[in-house]
Amino acid sequence: MTPVLPGATIGVLGAGQLGRMFAIAARRMGYRVHTFSPDTDTPTGQVADVEVVAPYEDLDAVRAFARAVSVVTFEFENVPAETAAAAAERAPVRPGGHVLHTTQQRLREKAFLAGAGLPVAPFLAVHSHAELQAAIGRLGTPAVLKQAAWGYDGKGQVWIDFPEGADAAWAVVGEVESVLEAAVPFAKEVSVVAARGARGDFAAFGVIENEHRDQVLDVSVSPADLPPRLAEEAVAIARAVMEALDVVGVLCVELFVTPDGRLLVNELAPRPHNSGHLTFDACLTSQFEQQLRAVCGLPLGATEQLRPAAMANLLGRAWRDGEPDWAAACAFPDVKLHLYGKNEARPGRKMGHLVALAETRRQARERVLAARAALSGRTQ
Ligand code: AMP
Repeated sequence: MTPVLPGATIGVLGAGQLGRMFAIAARRMGYRVHTFSPDTDTPTGQVADVEVVAPYEDLDAVRAFARAVSVVTFEFENVPAETAAAAAERAPVRPGGHVLHTTQQRLREKAFLAGAGLPVAPFLAVHSHAELQAAIGRLGTPAVLKQAAWGYDGKGQVWIDFPEGADAAWAVVGEVESVLEAAVPFAKEVSVVAARGARGDFAAFGVIENEHRDQVLDVSVSPADLPPRLAEEAVAIARAVMEALDVVGVLCVELFVTPDGRLLVNELAPRPHNSGHLTFDACLTSQFEQQLRAVCGLPLGATEQLRPAAMANLLGRAWRDGEPDWAAACAFPDVKLHLYGKNEARPGRKMGHLVALAETRRQARERVLAARAALSGRTQ
């Protein structure tokens, strides 16, 4: 593969914060960036050279977009398969459409993971109310019912605490194809962000520890507090996933760590991930630069982490009492502020994040939480 070198133009399908940070990394290295999404004045569009505004279903617009760039990648894995295929008629798409196909549907993703011999929580496919009741009979409660399609950040999923909850849960997922998963009584949640180049070269960031609130990522800390054996195993799982799926690009594996020290894969994201945002400030190469290098066919960069780090998300609710006090957060000299340029602060919307670097992971976590609290005038 001939590398796509600086000066060339990269196309990004999707236009959210992941594309924005990718575009920042790409522009720093002298690339041009075009982005494609149905929206205007997007987080990616604000820093890209060209913002194409069209529905993903407008395949002629997708082809024209792809013709103008040297390689297409995506920052949003729910891009329809037809969109990726239309782009692939005009430019290489990395990772390939087959990766999107597997990871944008939970049942396909779970079947792939189980088929590759990777550890997942017990699950069953559910296509009807009767199947749901049968599945609850087999897996027991508590369990989580998740829509098979278009799921992220806990959307389209519902907990079932007792078998009687089946009716309500089936209504909540919209009576569509779903997967019932046994609830995992995890000790912690972790993720591995890794990159794989076109020649099969592989580089992983260290394991990151994640805390969720209302099923949405809230805080990430790196390195994770894990025994080295488990950390190595987590990276080996990420490598196995990327090789089995033949991913060229960046992929994140989210995992549960059980109280008896086992790892179970929860979810895959074939792109940079919220938990990897701290790599922008804390690592020699960020997950976004790594995506750029991988999709351009360049050698991967060193993933070494410079200092322990913690990231705290800023959701729309931080705007509840008006504009947050940015100066107060900037008064923490070891804290970096990232804002995504979104105009409307809806309550659950990811608006930005903070990253703290410190001597220890514990201090980093404390600092980032203190800085976030300062945004709303609290001491914590
Ligand atoms: P997901 O959208 O599948 O990543 O789920 C979002 C969050 O919900 C996860 O990060 C967990 O905190 C929680 N969750 C999802 N599935 C399960 C499960 N089977 N057992 C326990 N917690 C879960």
